[in-house]
Amino acid sequence: MTDKTAPATVSVPSDHIMAVYSRTPLAFERGEGARLYTTDGVAYLDCMAGIAVNALGHANPKLVQVLKDQAEKLWHVSNIFTIPGQEKLARALTEATFADEVFFTNSGAEAIECAIKTARKYHWANGQPERIDIIGFEGSFHGRTIAAVNASGNPSYLEGFGPPLPGFVHLPYGDHEALKAAIGPTTAAILIEPVQGEGGARALPDVCLAGLRALCDETGTLLIYDEIQCGLGRTGKLFAYEWATDARPDIMAVAKALGGGFPVGACLATAEAGKGMVVGSHGSTYGGNPLAMAVGAAALEELVKPELLAHVREVAGYFTQQLAGLVERFPDVVSDIRGKGLLIGIKLHTPNREFMQYARDAHLLIAGGGDNCVRLLPPLTLTIAEASEAMEKLERACEIARARTKAAA
Ligand SMILES: *Cc1c(COP(=O)(O)O)cnc(C)c1O
Repeated sequence: MTDKTAPATVSVPSDHIMAVYSRTPLAFERGEGARLYTTDGVAYLDCMAGIAVNALGHANPKLVQVLKDQAEKLWHVSNIFTIPGQEKLARALTEATFADEVFFTNSGAEAIECAIKTARKYHWANGQPERIDIIGFEGSFHGRTIAAVNASGNPSYLEGFGPPLPGFVHLPYGDHEALKAAIGPTTAAILIEPVQGEGGARALPDVCLAGLRALCDETGTLLIYDEIQCGLGRTGKLFAYEWATDARPDIMAVAKALGGGFPVGACLATAEAGKGMVVGSHGSTYGGNPLAMAVGAAALEELVKPELLAHVREVAGYFTQQLAGLVERFPDVVSDIRGKGLLIGIKLHTPNREFMQYARDAHLLIAGGGDNCVRLLPPLTLTIAEASEAMEKLERACEIARARTKAAA
């Protein structure tokens, strides 16, 4: 169905929106499951899910109902009151993880902020206020607040925003020896994504996670996981760290899929790691608001289901097998497949921004990523039939890329 009067695109760039995004002139009006429909009714298969956010698909009927029900009762109250929805979601999160306690935020970056503050305050409460250094890794992404960009250390996100903050150290990803050497008397915590997302879907080997845990135990360092992208079922376990044995963190930041599209994040901690966070240490006006808590609790109820996690592993297995074939057929376009579960990186020879457009030409939405990757981050509910359709569309995108390269040569 095409409505000729409705414009397919919005004008870009806008005069009235801060020009920080490189936007595609595609505007969506509604979604259903893994489909998004433009304002003029064209369907796209969504294999980016708002960057791993719409894990249960668009307009998930259960989440819609919960949001409507809550909207008619209560939207917001101050955190000076008891908020039963927070108790409910916090209980569910702690029952499902290593954690004993939770602080609710509105975004991933805020969950990272809380994680960093919690780690430093822990050492302060232990009488070691000099332990402030957060060790991060190259290629990481932790969000866009001042602390988050300093934690990830990506020079292009830091440039122009004043001097780098003290208390942040950066090391190559997965270099255990460099890490051992870097831990010293001022180290507070190691902050790492068990599977890097924006950096290009790089999964840290399970033994490395266990190694990090051991190193932290030896040195009294806190281990912080950023599972904002790789957590909540994305890799086929509820959290990516569960693939490794003996690799539990002390603190963990989650967000993205937690609200299935409603903004909600959380910083999880053990009682020990959280002991410095007392009345007055931290706060948020919106964090843990009743709307967010209602949707978050409903989303988590689905995300913890063993059937869903098994489904993720099955669809991921299908993609792994099919993508290997794609590399064989298009070695001139695709160079490597990586990632974990349904956080899939496709490393390209073709510039990734161009390839994303070729995919859109085939009505497939995929995300970009560092190291000239594109990422597949479909809803976790994607069916095998939809995955097969995604492969056909990727194949078409590869054909377009090949034809363009030939034409240019
Ligand atoms: C998206 C993301 C963040 C930042 O989350 P926001 O909600 O955008 O602040 C942090 N860490 C990782 C790993 C992410 O993928």
